[in-house]
Amino acid sequence: MKVLVVNCGSSSLKYQVLDMPSETLLCKGLVERIGIDGSVIKHEKIGMPKYVKEVPMNDHNEAILHVIDALIDREYGVVKNMSEIEAIGHRIVQGGERYDKSVLVTDKVIQDIRELAPLAPLHNPAHLLGISACQKLMPSTPQVVVFDTAFHQTMPAKSYIYALPYEWYEKYAVRRYGAHGTSHRYVTLRAAEMLGKKPEEVNLITCHIGNGASVSAIKNGKCYDTSMGLTPLQGLVMGTRCGDIDPAVIAYIAGKENIDAFEIDSIMNKKSGILGISGISSDMRDVENAMAEGNERAKLAWDVFAQRVKHYVGAYYAELGRVDAIIFTAGVGENSAPMRADICEGLENLGIKIDLEANNVRGEDKDLSAEDSKVKVLLIPTNEELMIARDTYEIVKA
Ligand code: ADP
Repeated sequence: MKVLVVNCGSSSLKYQVLDMPSETLLCKGLVERIGIDGSVIKHEKIGMPKYVKEVPMNDHNEAILHVIDALIDREYGVVKNMSEIEAIGHRIVQGGERYDKSVLVTDKVIQDIRELAPLAPLHNPAHLLGISACQKLMPSTPQVVVFDTAFHQTMPAKSYIYALPYEWYEKYAVRRYGAHGTSHRYVTLRAAEMLGKKPEEVNLITCHIGNGASVSAIKNGKCYDTSMGLTPLQGLVMGTRCGDIDPAVIAYIAGKENIDAFEIDSIMNKKSGILGISGISSDMRDVENAMAEGNERAKLAWDVFAQRVKHYVGAYYAELGRVDAIIFTAGVGENSAPMRADICEGLENLGIKIDLEANNVRGEDKDLSAEDSKVKVLLIPTNEELMIARDTYEIVKA
């Protein structure tokens, strides 16, 4: 079964086609600047050079039309006609408390995603545009939605309840939901395989550290706690997000700068984090280069980032009691050996010891632990699209 995986943002659309159950990636692509000048589709059939086509695309319908064109292209395509695509899987950021697993798209599911949009105002409406475009252009192809929050629904209340008036939870659903759940789930399953155990036997600390970043505590294969909150603003320092701060900063800065909470929220999302501290860039590679040239704020941004991850590793170690492995994944986790080394530095007394030579690697499944490390340190490149394709295949097959 060929499965199209779609990840829709407000002005972008990422896609892949995988053959299931062999899990073979056939092609992948990205549409950018939908509805803005300079719309472009970048498509890559595996084993072929990339093709890039700049063409105006006013909305997601037009974007999907160009994706379809690419998929059925004689040279660059992967199917003769779209009936060969037997299922579509969509990534959805927010499923609230309503979804603890992936489901087939129905009118009720669409309504729920719409109702949950206030909890993910940038993402859920964009996902709906993608679903609706696919329904219009491929009306007989079953669609599945895979929620980023679903994996975190196993958290106990003591992990997700904020110490705020309980009515805010009851009236407004204010609680921790977490994010990157599909990634944390993927690396959990893969880590269990690498450890030679069943998923329900493993306790892990999974560090998804990219531009967005979160850490999860996995107990017996299920999410027990996670660092992101009601929104992706909580937890670790990220490219442009501040992560954990004293909430009193908001009222304090509102008075000082004469700006409202919404503006501060935007600054905390877009101008903080690595970018805010370093003043240089949200990208860890730029920070690393600036650091090498002696830039002190770049070094500070690096150190704060590493310390916050270490902080959560310690916290989740305490919550779990026993940890089989620490997992590094996503852009920084997969590529930055020095960052992994700095995070693990000084954790020997917790039984966590990275082998600096083995650590000198990027982007492949690998055990990075020293021989005498009680806790394994694993590098596992994430694969959210594969997870979405697996769920989609299982649900549509059934
Ligand atoms: P997103 O949250 O957007 O999915 P990714 O997981 O793709 O982010 O991570 C992107 C980030 O990974 C970049 O912003 C960059 O900071 C980091 N990154 C990528 N390659 C390297 C590298 N070689 N060294 C350090 N950081 C890297």
